[in-house]
Amino acid sequence: MEEKTPGQQLRDALLNQKKHGWDVVDETTEKAIFDYCEGYKTFLDKGKTERDCVDYAVELAQGLGFVPLERGMELQPGMKVYRVNRGRALNLAVVGSAPLDQGVSIAAAHIDSPRLDLKPTPLYEDSELAFLKTHYYGGIRKYQWVTIPLELRGVVAMKNGDLVHVSVGSHPGDPLFTIDDLLPHLGAEQSKKPLGEAIPAESLNVLVGSRPLKDDDGKDRVKLAVMKLLYEHYGIREADFISAEIEAVPAFNAVDIGFDRTLIGAYGQDDRVCGYAAFKALLDLEGVPCRTAVCVLADKEEIGSEGVSGMQSAFFETFVGDLCATQKVPLRVCLEKSFCLSADVTAAFDPQFADVYEKRNSAYVNYGIGLCKYTGARGKSGASDAGAEAVAYVRRLLDDKGVLWQMAELGATDKGGGGTVACYMANRNIDTLDAGVPVLSMHAPFEVTSKLDCYMTYAACKAVYEG
Ligand code: MN
Ligand code: MN
Repeated sequence: MEEKTPGQQLRDALLNQKKHGWDVVDETTEKAIFDYCEGYKTFLDKGKTERDCVDYAVELAQGLGFVPLERGMELQPGMKVYRVNRGRALNLAVVGSAPLDQGVSIAAAHIDSPRLDLKPTPLYEDSELAFLKTHYYGGIRKYQWVTIPLELRGVVAMKNGDLVHVSVGSHPGDPLFTIDDLLPHLGAEQSKKPLGEAIPAESLNVLVGSRPLKDDDGKDRVKLAVMKLLYEHYGIREADFISAEIEAVPAFNAVDIGFDRTLIGAYGQDDRVCGYAAFKALLDLEGVPCRTAVCVLADKEEIGSEGVSGMQSAFFETFVGDLCATQKVPLRVCLEKSFCLSADVTAAFDPQFADVYEKRNSAYVNYGIGLCKYTGARGKSGASDAGAEAVAYVRRLLDDKGVLWQMAELGATDKGGGGTVACYMANRNIDTLDAGVPVLSMHAPFEVTSKLDCYMTYAACKAVYEG
């Protein structure tokens, strides 16, 4: 080795020099990255809706000894508990050796993703084609959702209390669905429209059938024939759509991207990439953590974290409060000592659209988990803006565990912005920092992440739980 010049030594000592993740990781970590991502891809394929995510996560957790948290239960250090919120959100905890008045270590992610929900009266026929009307959920760019294969997943709540599960398109041999778009030959006028107006929301109608009912001369024979199939298969009638939550989601499964297989392309990575990281890190905790570790998988983040299953719901307080009650610790005492990593994705710098980023403060693919001191828009509007001390705490945690991380701002200051569950955790008097995987094409039907960044987010969640 040649001796470093004084300038190089000074550079090493004083400057924050980012290193490419693949130049840093050793062979063991490399293998761990690729292994971890196989489990992550399965999670994505099984969990294309928040309900599916909850079901799959509960199945995995139960297999590792997690039990439902019941009031009046005696909790011992090392015990693993969970509680499902109305089938759509999930909290889990591993009880630590420290009492709960020392606070809990939380990783909170969301498992809802942008998609097309069916409207309450969705099924109609026009020109002898049957369609389902949709209402988009979350921030989508509508033009991205036409002419791609879609599947339908969700539930129909029957008046008698039964819950009918609907899933068409995820099993081998299933039919798929799609939304049609104009052919270029007739698209001249449409092509002149701004991107955001070219596909109006009311044209996001899913094509579901074309064969009319035989030996019938009434109206809407194609619609009736589709309804007949649905009744035969699921026992549902048209009015049952009123109390249904059925989502049209991309039908393609998670795949490796790139000749070197270092990236993952899939639907719903915002924010199941952090949801899986937070969840898997909790499952993989070895021994008894010092502080109680809490994993939050929330719903409704994409529409403002509102509602009974969103992060603003008292479900979280009820869960942690029930834990605290077993030790007669007031909830407020626990929360004020707690720390939360708000695990949500950030925008990865995209060289195709460099002008909306600020390159010195953007997250880059393959540089590890992106820490976000603040989110929000323009003058940090809507951000919780973590305290410098909270950022220092996480820097230390991650550096001590050798987790690769970088700082991230979501785009250039005047270009836009976004929010996460961070402010709702911070409002509860919990020190909270945003952090997550940088994503290319965020909110598109097919989002791209780096396997290294996915793994480092898992490692970061684990570091937080281990304190
Ligand atoms: Mn998100
Ligand atoms: Mn989002």
